[in-house]
Amino acid sequence: MSTAQMPTAGQSILFGGDYNPEQWPRETWDEDMRLLKQAHVTSVTLNVFSWALLQPDDETYDFSMLDDIVETVTKAGLTIVMATSTGALPAWMSLKYPDVNRVDFHGRRHRHGGRHNACPSSPTYLKYAPKLAGLIAKRYASLSNLVCWHVSNEYGGYCYCDNCAARFREWLAARYGSVENLNEAWTTNFWGHTYHSFEEIFPPNELGDAVDENRSLLPALTLDYRRFMSDSVRNMYRVEKAAIREYDAETPVTTNFMLNFNDFDYFSWADDLDVVSWDCYPSYDTDPSEISMWHDLMRGLKSSPFMLMEQTPSRANWQPFNSLKKPGQMRAQSLQAMAHGADTIQFFQMRRSRAGCEKFHGAIIENDGGSDTRVFRETEELGSQLHQLGTQLVGSQVRAKVAIVFDWESWWGMLGSVGPSVSLNYLTEINRYYAELYRRHISVDMVRKTADLSGYSAVLAPCLYMVDDQTSENLHRYVRSGGRLLLTTMSSIANENDQCHLGGAPAPLRDIAGAWAEETDALAPEVSVPLLFTDADSAIPQVRPAAGSLLCDVLRTDTAHTVATYGGDDYYAGAPAVTENSFGEGRAFYVATMPDKIALSAIMDRFLAGSGVETCAPDVEAAPGIEVSTRFGADGTRYTFAIDLAGKGGDVTLSTPMSDLITGKRYETRIALGRFGVVILKA
Ligand SMILES: [Zn+2]
Repeated sequence: MSTAQMPTAGQSILFGGDYNPEQWPRETWDEDMRLLKQAHVTSVTLNVFSWALLQPDDETYDFSMLDDIVETVTKAGLTIVMATSTGALPAWMSLKYPDVNRVDFHGRRHRHGGRHNACPSSPTYLKYAPKLAGLIAKRYASLSNLVCWHVSNEYGGYCYCDNCAARFREWLAARYGSVENLNEAWTTNFWGHTYHSFEEIFPPNELGDAVDENRSLLPALTLDYRRFMSDSVRNMYRVEKAAIREYDAETPVTTNFMLNFNDFDYFSWADDLDVVSWDCYPSYDTDPSEISMWHDLMRGLKSSPFMLMEQTPSRANWQPFNSLKKPGQMRAQSLQAMAHGADTIQFFQMRRSRAGCEKFHGAIIENDGGSDTRVFRETEELGSQLHQLGTQLVGSQVRAKVAIVFDWESWWGMLGSVGPSVSLNYLTEINRYYAELYRRHISVDMVRKTADLSGYSAVLAPCLYMVDDQTSENLHRYVRSGGRLLLTTMSSIANENDQCHLGGAPAPLRDIAGAWAEETDALAPEVSVPLLFTDADSAIPQVRPAAGSLLCDVLRTDTAHTVATYGGDDYYAGAPAVTENSFGEGRAFYVATMPDKIALSAIMDRFLAGSGVETCAPDVEAAPGIEVSTRFGADGTRYTFAIDLAGKGGDVTLSTPMSDLITGKRYETRIALGRFGVVILKA
């Protein structure tokens, strides 16, 4: 895995974000520059949605306004993240070349409108998008303040048109070699789906095998279509990047990823990005652990620091309830990102739009147009503090001894399955375990299933539904050589073609688990089952108010011993619910149900006992709700972030005196963090 190329603004990090002066008269631009400088903004992202302005017809290109914008921000001393504008099609192109428009899940060809609206297989798009990217690169690559290329914007969605169908058949032929192999892999004898040529296969839309956009009567078809679309849309990015590289061999190229997003396998994309960037838009009720988990996942894509390309300074507009970030919360969330590996702090956007569907989206300069607002003052304060910090944290690393395996294919496989429970949610299950580690201030790496695990003291693979031979070998190697692994119900159910493994789940990991699930019960939403933990000392089941829910595997043990059993009065009361097994030099836990917080705490105590895993900052304790996390500089310097993300404040207690990098203040033992308070401590 390559190390990310992180853009900076000289002695400061990139602080700023999307700026859309095309929406404003020129007299506004100079005032914007004055205000952005006042807020210590160091960088603007330009040209995200200007394709229709830049190219009014097939042959004509007009860069005059973009030239003026570039000149304005350059004169102001700002660095530029230059976008390629291909995130939204020009109307003339949609009308003249209908192949650029997507066909949706319902089989309808769209006309011009919206954004992220181009077909990835369109010959017209694949001609004009890289041409535009190349012309922009040719024109602006030599700018001394250009620090990053931003290809398109927030890629998302699928197309189901005839061009995509044709390319899908080619993709399938390359993957399977013959239609007989495909029939075997997809188990097409189920419900009489046997194909005699690739021409008989169509995208899984509403007119065919799809139940909905996630589920299909032939899940392997939907799974492969997801893989194909992930590859196809990644190709849209790649052709633009190649065009940029014709004129600029150096400047990092990226595109911005999104939260809770499953259209594409970001692990497979990451090698094509010089630096990962992403847009973090939590809702008012998003748990801080979920945000940290996604920051860790973005860091995990390249095992390197990342760019926080977008966040709102105050509120979004597209969520059901667009609550404001409370005073101090934007700063706390910005530094939360930094604590997990963000080396830029950027926003959408600099000046709020007057019109369009984002007219209610927050911005640094609001509609009053000035600096006398809470949001502007908070931005200015954060900008000043980041300016003080400089680039000393850039490139510092998170050191984790615990990894959670994250797998888009398992997410797709579970989404695509009809059963066993509509309440089953991959992200919820991953976060269930992440949140318990987060609560304990244990650093976590989010890794792909084929990652080298040898450096980790503990690895968790909750609901790792899809396990192929390579993954099985990887997990066997890890545990055999002394690792400890946690598996759960819905781990290792299917192979890469979504065929259930034979031999008792979690086959082929059954030997590691030392147990197998003979049956799996799905509980109604209001039902839970008590869990009785066997005390390691007395071997007598202890009655605790711990419970499982949603799914209950009825486990049979081969070589594992029982850590907890089901209580209650169902027929499987007394059967194992949590087991532990020795395998090779290592050990594996199997959790057969969805544990509540009390059960999870008991499981984690046992899982981590003797592993050497400890809190990331043993000399720092914090009140509940205060996040503690660490980054390490190349020289071994530890930076400890203590962040009140719950908005309640609380005490942080030190056993070693430390100084806050933000204020320079030295603390001996106790720090009283105010609401959304943050310290970055250095011993
Ligand atoms: Zn298409």
